Amino acid sequence: MNKILLLLLFSAVLNAQPHIDVVYPRAMPPDTIAYIDDVNENFIFGSVTPPNSVLRINGIKVELLENGSFLAFLPVDWENSYYELTATAVTSLSIDSANFYWQSNVIVRKDSSSIILPFTTRSIKGKAEQPDISFPTLVTLNGGVARTAPNGAYYLFPDKDTQVIATGWRDNYYRFRIAPQQSVWVASYYCSKFEAQSDILPPVIWEAQAEQKQGWDELKVPLGRKVLYRIYDETFPNKIIVDLFGVISHLDKISYSSDLRSVWDIVWSQPADEVVRLEINLMHSCWGYKVDWSEDGQFILSVKNPPEILWGIKGLHVAIDPGHGGDKDGAIGPTRLTEKEINLKIAGSVVELLESKGVQVTQTRTDDSDIGLKKRIHLAENAGADLLISLHHNALADGTNPFGDFGTGTHYYHPFSRDFAISVQRELIQALMLHDEGVYYNNLALARPTAMPSILVESAYIMFPDHEMMMLSEDYPAKIAKAIYLGVKEFVTLRKKSL
Ligand SMILES: [Zn+2]
Repeated sequence: MNKILLLLLFSAVLNAQPHIDVVYPRAMPPDTIAYIDDVNENFIFGSVTPPNSVLRINGIKVELLENGSFLAFLPVDWENSYYELTATAVTSLSIDSANFYWQSNVIVRKDSSSIILPFTTRSIKGKAEQPDISFPTLVTLNGGVARTAPNGAYYLFPDKDTQVIATGWRDNYYRFRIAPQQSVWVASYYCSKFEAQSDILPPVIWEAQAEQKQGWDELKVPLGRKVLYRIYDETFPNKIIVDLFGVISHLDKISYSSDLRSVWDIVWSQPADEVVRLEINLMHSCWGYKVDWSEDGQFILSVKNPPEILWGIKGLHVAIDPGHGGDKDGAIGPTRLTEKEINLKIAGSVVELLESKGVQVTQTRTDDSDIGLKKRIHLAENAGADLLISLHHNALADGTNPFGDFGTGTHYYHPFSRDFAISVQRELIQALMLHDEGVYYNNLALARPTAMPSILVESAYIMFPDHEMMMLSEDYPAKIAKAIYLGVKEFVTLRKKSL
């Protein structure tokens, strides 16, 4: 640590020295150590002023862009666990003793500065202790997510106050049997009210009803109480599939009102004991759906009718969500441009352009405030948006070589949002001419809403010096805005054609 203090001291005293700003890995207070993943190589980025300095990191020369920003991918020296960055101004120093000083037995130029950035690995959480509960036991779920294994993939999303029988526990997750040979796992912090009980009577479905209600086709299934269910959609052909778990079918009658606009018919099956599957065949591509429960335990699936669009995209309602905000900066660039800033700036241009085309817009965040992910989704849903676009800029995980093929990518979660992602991605590539990463199926909160086609856009990588420079250019927000407008228009036009 003496070495660090000495160097910091000299950096402050000599004003002819270049200034080095390391943005990532970030030194965290109070001990100013950076925490990184346990990887053999990692990236480091930031900037140097003046930009015509020569930068070396652990002895390796690193190029600076014209604005002084840099990005390097270097071996991680776990033996010494620090980065040493030295920047030397490009000036011709005479060999005069006044231009040099001694430090730790080496001669140092006065026009150079160094910083030492120590790092360590991110800590790994300790093992959880098994709770003192005997199984099976009746558990009340407070919403959350049920996974394929402890810490596994998201599989279904239990509604608040659903009661289910837990059959085991592992690594802080309770296990719930949803079908013979099939379990899901829910983190213990979503579980409460444990009651010794080995069985719970499965509800029987006798009837179902589909009717039109203010822009949605509503399917009602009386069950008497909440159960676990899984919903997913398919695109060829267009359908929504609901698996109701712990339920028995005696479904002899389904009524359809004459004014349905989206639901063609419902076909049921019982693929396993106490699992009832409802296949809802649609008249067109899915525009979204949502689930509610009535007080008396009716399962209500609302299927969104296609929005009424006048001409072009006039009449459409789009939710624009600038990612991050408040004390959540998001990713950060080498010259400290924050993702939250650029996301908000772009959102302004997107909203302006869409509104000028007759689109109604709901913006989840209009200033530098921190809004929770759930709140953003609620804002879009409650406003009745027909589409949701979350605006982001990318960064890489520790250990990834940043000099690979990275550019623009668009993320979706539900199959019915895939064509929307493809249309917007195509226009973003046209506008920015960056590497085309294609679209991703990706389990992201803002790609997961079901009430409307939802995508999350990662236009470029804020951590790349050249991408950050592009984001700071004057015409960048307008380029993104135009691409998003054209993407929305293309998507809507293609959807209309398929009707
Ligand atoms: Zn982001």
